[in-house]
Amino acid sequence: MCIPNLARISHSLIYILLLGILVSCNQEDDQRKVGSEGMENAEYNMDAIDQYTYARPGEAVVTHLDLDIKVNFANKKISGKATYQITNHAEVNKIFFDTKQIDIESVTIGEEGKETEFALVGYKDFMGRKLEIAIDPETEVVNIYYSTRPEAIALQWLSPQQTVEKGQPFLYTQSEPTYARSWIPTQDSPGIRFTYSARVEVPKELMVVMSASNPQEKSANGIYNFEMKQPIPGYLIALAVGDFRFKATGPRSGVYAEASVVDAAAQEFGELEEMMDAVEKLYGPYRWERYDLIVLPPSFPFGGMENPRLTFATPTIIAGDRSLVSVVAHELSHSWSGNLVTSATWNDFWINEGFTVYLERRIMEELYGASYTRMLRLIGYQDLESTIELMGETNADTHLKLQLDGRDPDEALTDIAYEKGALFLQVVEEAVGRERWDDYLKNYFDKFAFQSMSTEKFLDHMRETLIKGDAALAKQINIDAWVYGPGLPDNCPVVKSERFEVVDEAVVKWTSGENAETLGAGEWTTHEWLHFLRHLPNEISVERMTELDQSFKLSNSQNSEIIAAWFIHVIKNNYEVAYDELEEFLVKVGRRKFLAPLYKELAKTEANKKVGIAIYKKARLNYHQISTVTIDGILGWEDIRYLMHD
Ligand SMILES: [Zn+2]
Repeated sequence: MCIPNLARISHSLIYILLLGILVSCNQEDDQRKVGSEGMENAEYNMDAIDQYTYARPGEAVVTHLDLDIKVNFANKKISGKATYQITNHAEVNKIFFDTKQIDIESVTIGEEGKETEFALVGYKDFMGRKLEIAIDPETEVVNIYYSTRPEAIALQWLSPQQTVEKGQPFLYTQSEPTYARSWIPTQDSPGIRFTYSARVEVPKELMVVMSASNPQEKSANGIYNFEMKQPIPGYLIALAVGDFRFKATGPRSGVYAEASVVDAAAQEFGELEEMMDAVEKLYGPYRWERYDLIVLPPSFPFGGMENPRLTFATPTIIAGDRSLVSVVAHELSHSWSGNLVTSATWNDFWINEGFTVYLERRIMEELYGASYTRMLRLIGYQDLESTIELMGETNADTHLKLQLDGRDPDEALTDIAYEKGALFLQVVEEAVGRERWDDYLKNYFDKFAFQSMSTEKFLDHMRETLIKGDAALAKQINIDAWVYGPGLPDNCPVVKSERFEVVDEAVVKWTSGENAETLGAGEWTTHEWLHFLRHLPNEISVERMTELDQSFKLSNSQNSEIIAAWFIHVIKNNYEVAYDELEEFLVKVGRRKFLAPLYKELAKTEANKKVGIAIYKKARLNYHQISTVTIDGILGWEDIRYLMHD
């Protein structure tokens, strides 16, 4: 998933605020058996136990899902049947699934569909309810008849008004980290993989795509069939339903988007094939056949989500000049790190994201060169420094290997996993040399393809095949300090960007009173603009705000990154001339990375907080629940609840 930079900082802030009220879940289900391969190494076993699933994969585990569902927009429900092929390793009499906000109608077993007993048991925050199903030692098939509830957290139901074209409704899912269980009863753990096929019925005006083989045209009857032949964990199952079109960008890639967006999207993402070639050259074949991308309506809470074969993306990365495509490089990289070799548990989340940020920067270097990539690195580094400062340098949540211990797994999504993870891999690269490191990575993705990976398993493999007992090399890398220690270790690479040094000079010039037109900003990329805006002083006079705004039309920028960074100053300095544009942006865009810092800034003074609440009242319906949970927290949940009842 891509929640880069600013969002992750502010997310960490929220997380610190929430820390005090989080309750650890009880440990009754944590004594779980795991598969025979893991049993050989007790230490690895303990490590790879996922606390966020009720499933007991060492006893009975799913291997294939056949989904047969109908999507009903009128009552905001998905209903149908999930048929699982299972392997009953331990000849047990029960199999366990995860569910959240789902109603189970009946359960049968075997091809013949024999009725069986089931129960929904208990409830834990962040986990939902355990579905216990009676099976026989020889049972191979389990059929679960179910329907979802309108409030299912994975499902975002949009009215026609909330789409670009405003003609038809739209539905999309967000299953990571533990939300798949709110639209499919499943064994929802990053460590449990299965293949799937699906039959989905929708109103015939609409089209359906999934993280699977996809149609490129509407069907006549509203019925669509899908197949995902590669085994994936539940958090990568995805569905989008709406009135969209397909446009090819190359022989094995293309984009889906609403009619008026599809051409701009195909233009913006015209380098998909080149990006795929760049990663394949470095890290081995793309193993998912096609790579397509769907541009969702603006409410999508993230930059992108790496659903296999079909990345889900926010329209806010369409800037018109391909300047924000690093998000696409990020999601594509997940086809190797994350989707192919997957974090065993949410405590190992950096195995997904640290590797992916590292790969993303390598792709950007191939396509745009080293000086461009150094800007991306430095922005990432600055974000990481702020995150560590906010969290506290000795906070155990700044370790790469996390101990979430029952807290919301969404809390793993900080800059630590992304940026500290990528820096650690850069340390290894610099210590062993790029050629040797690339060979290692290519081999790693090949050897562990379609498997889950714990932190310990990766480190063991790296010690065995890369470090090979070289004590000096081990000392130079200092694995323990990076993985099990807080903050940034002493051997952290120094990140410098000569292009940002030029921007630093422009900041000095402008703050000492020179006119904006003398700054040489005409050639700046998005990242130079971001660096400039981030380094302006906190207090700027209305006169100087006006001068900057009129010179560069910042309040009307079509670039979401630039305008969001500008709005921070707009709020800080009560530059009310731009409040209408601020409102328009906040009502339209649902990407949490932009929302959280802006509402947080608004909440800092009484007057601006009133403005923020008034905007939120208009905007909240357009946001995904993942975003509203965060913004409710920022603006004060009680205030918001009161407001929403009027
Ligand atoms: Zn990601």
